[in-house]
Amino acid sequence: MSDQVKKMFIDGEWVASSSGETFPVRNPATGEVLAHVTKATREDAQRAIAAARRAFDEPGGWGESKARDRAELLWRVADLIEARAEEFAQTDTRNNGKPLRESRYDVSDAVNQFRYYAGLCTKPQGQTYDVPDEIQAMVVREPIGVVGAITCWNYPLVMNAQKVAPALAAGNTLVLKPADLTPLSTIMLFECLEQAGLPAGVANLVTGPGSVVGDEISKNELVDKVAFTGGTETGIAIMKNAADTVKKLSLELGGKSPNIVFADADFETAVDYALFAIFANQGEVCSAGSRLLLEESIYEPFMARLVERAQKITVGDGVNPETEMGPLISEAHLERVLDYIRIGLDEGARLLCGGKRLTGGGLENGYFLAPTIFEAHRNDMRIVQEEIFGPVLVVQKFRSEEEAIRLANSTKYGLAGAVFTNDGAKAQRVIRKLRAGITWINTYHPTFNEAPWGGYKQSGIGRELGTYGYEAYTEVKQINVNLKVQPSGWFRN
Ligand code: NAD
Repeated sequence: MSDQVKKMFIDGEWVASSSGETFPVRNPATGEVLAHVTKATREDAQRAIAAARRAFDEPGGWGESKARDRAELLWRVADLIEARAEEFAQTDTRNNGKPLRESRYDVSDAVNQFRYYAGLCTKPQGQTYDVPDEIQAMVVREPIGVVGAITCWNYPLVMNAQKVAPALAAGNTLVLKPADLTPLSTIMLFECLEQAGLPAGVANLVTGPGSVVGDEISKNELVDKVAFTGGTETGIAIMKNAADTVKKLSLELGGKSPNIVFADADFETAVDYALFAIFANQGEVCSAGSRLLLEESIYEPFMARLVERAQKITVGDGVNPETEMGPLISEAHLERVLDYIRIGLDEGARLLCGGKRLTGGGLENGYFLAPTIFEAHRNDMRIVQEEIFGPVLVVQKFRSEEEAIRLANSTKYGLAGAVFTNDGAKAQRVIRKLRAGITWINTYHPTFNEAPWGGYKQSGIGRELGTYGYEAYTEVKQINVNLKVQPSGWFRN
């Protein structure tokens, strides 16, 4: 057990909780305690929010900062993360469980996010237009103010970077609450922000429970915007809490995304991506291809190959170079996923592989689950409709293009989706009918910082990343300049 106590970062200082309390953070591959982290109180969150407010509002403060200065600072942050890239990757793997090759990819993504937004904030923005009057009309983008960011645990570094970088680039100040399960790389990120020379109060890190810190962020009247990534139920609660003070909201929520494979698809490519779609990052991916929709005529050979390959996936500690799939994030989450497996069996779904906790060969203290595949014969089954957020694939058959589209769109979610076919026109037809924000043709999962990320339906509100993600951290102001400075003459006297 580690005696290390990690502090939080408020108003430019590393501080303990006002209650003196901490909470343990574990390695899900071993159950080992990696560190004890400061457990913030509501008062700590309020202090961080007040610091962010002051840093935004004060004369000459961050709210009035120049884009070029912000860009230089963010570029330094990127360099500092990059200099510690392997340490970041090791930290995310130990804290989250994901294989090292995935953590390394995440770190390079986070570095790129800081560079992307450092570049973007100095580029042309706004509009001018011709209006039918002696007026010069223009539109400028301005920061929203204080951003409260609340995040999830499945991409610990990159998910926080993707809120911090655009929020600061656009000139906002920030209070960030990372997931309780994975705060360690976020603490390192704030070390980089401090080292880069961020003024006190501009970015604040508050570690603690969602029901206290997250609740305060979503209600506090000094917060102008909440940027949230997490479950749909929590998103709904945050939306309700934020309503009283009419906060701007970005919500990145859950998914149950369809991966549609037609009989004319390249067989091995489609099998390969069907595996990658659900078993990458242990299936703890909001956009995971958790519903495989397979054209009936290739069902048998496809499933035989899919199950054969799923059973060969090497599950283990993410620090081991051979590991292809790591543990689930916590014992509680493993239990939740196992509950879904019981629900699937009770509903009459056919278990084709996996379905069990793995405990042999050094895995006994971790939260490992075998890659699991169910065949579902009814669309109203809970395992078809609800997000499991683990390595559990549910497969359904379809007989026509229309049926594939109907099934694909039949959940409350609309985050992502893919289609595999060698018929280009069919691929376009089907993808255009998917009610989802992130889609792929003949691939699954590649996403880029340059492109917008977000969902339709109950998968969220707004977009992160790319120029859309930057705009989500700005207000739009119109300015009308009178070019003929004289009284209007509207009133007679
Ligand atoms: P969660 O909603 O329980 O927690 C997310 C964050 O919200 C945590 O920091 C938590 O402490 C905080 N929180 C909890 N209750 C709160 C409250 N009442 N008020 C304010 N904050 C509160 O999420 P989870 O279940 O741990 O994460 C999994 C979910 O996240 C899945 O549904 C997944 O699809 C979703 N997710 C979505 C995206 C996306 O980009 N759309 C990305 C990753 C994860």
